[in-house]
Amino acid sequence: MSRHSKIFIGLISGAILGVIINFTSKDSFVTTFIQTYITDPLGKIFLNFLIMMVIPLVFASLSLGVAQIGDLKKLGRIGFRTIAYFIIVTTFAVVIGLVLVNVIRPGDYLPQETKTSLMDSFKTQATEIKSATEKTEFGIQTLVNIIPRNPVAAIAKPNPDMLALIFFSLIVGISLTLIDKEKANTLIKILEAINDVTVKVINIAMKLAPYGVFALIFSVTSRFGFDLLVALSMYVLTVLLGLTLHFLGTFSLLLKLLAKYNPIKFFKKIETVVLTAFSTSSSSATLPTTISVSQTNLGIPTQITGFVLPLGATMNMNGTALFEGVTVLFLAQVFGVHLSFGVQLIVVLMSVLTAIGSAGVPSGSIPLLVMVLAMINVPPEGIAIILGVDRILDMCRTVLNVSGDITCAAYIAKTEGYELKQ
Ligand code: ASP
Repeated sequence: MSRHSKIFIGLISGAILGVIINFTSKDSFVTTFIQTYITDPLGKIFLNFLIMMVIPLVFASLSLGVAQIGDLKKLGRIGFRTIAYFIIVTTFAVVIGLVLVNVIRPGDYLPQETKTSLMDSFKTQATEIKSATEKTEFGIQTLVNIIPRNPVAAIAKPNPDMLALIFFSLIVGISLTLIDKEKANTLIKILEAINDVTVKVINIAMKLAPYGVFALIFSVTSRFGFDLLVALSMYVLTVLLGLTLHFLGTFSLLLKLLAKYNPIKFFKKIETVVLTAFSTSSSSATLPTTISVSQTNLGIPTQITGFVLPLGATMNMNGTALFEGVTVLFLAQVFGVHLSFGVQLIVVLMSVLTAIGSAGVPSGSIPLLVMVLAMINVPPEGIAIILGVDRILDMCRTVLNVSGDITCAAYIAKTEGYELKQ
């Protein structure tokens, strides 16, 4: 049986079992025991196993990618196209979200009692996020920090500074093309070895995937407040409609027009990536799968995947940006804050910037989203209203985040004259 069929079975059985438990014995002793001692740890082990390799993988594949591109002119061209693509397509995603939220106005459908009870139930979590956000820097310092004073310190923390790692890897890669060939080859060989080891470890980790995915999905669905989905249905539907339009509409168009690739074939070939992103809610944890699927199934050359995909996993989050835009406007509607067209443009800009700055981990965008709320005078503790449905939306937006990266890699490969595997 293929890997993605096994993962799919893990996902479906985890979801079905979780939903059954949710409706029959949600808070029972046995359920809590299973969640605490079996499925939560198993899910975390699987996620940690994957995320553990992300730092060496990003460093090795990005610096190697740059070194393999070799020619600085070509690198500049690819780099410019990649970043321009990220920014334009992410902006487009936010615009789709904002148009929908302005037309549907999901905030008008939330009864006052539901709002109060949600604010009460998720008060502690919201306060924790708010105080964490106060410590997060976002602004000119974020820009300065992209060039790390100490690259080891930048990554040796629970939330590694991925933009700093990207800068460091890029500059190492560029320098490799500029030094003596023989010496460069020594380091390139080492980087290739690191890359191969990383891929091997991830292959071992992916053997756990069907069980890990089962555990992750079971943990989510067995705890999930399905009543919240109903209470917030208009908001959830607005986000999901936006994500679907961007996924099926924008991506299909981009694939057809820019990468000259049949979108249906493309979506079939990236099934494993979609399943992994959906179940882990993490672009970083999915990155190894994203790279291997792009190379093996789509035939995108390693120098392109090595460059575009690690950058994309950190900087290109279409789903996250769309979700942020919709959520900010939804909460503004709920709190009766009128946002003029000009302020909405700021929301677009901030959604794009904070999506670039968000960590590719579950709920990585929430702290930055809280910051945007505060910025435009929507009460930041209002985030409590959506926390209960965030995980399910996170699973969906992460699918867009990673498939957007592969779409970009396919486009770049095409413009560089490579033929993709049909
Ligand atoms: N979970 C998302 C990702 O890893 C980030 C977010 O939107 O919270 O891509």
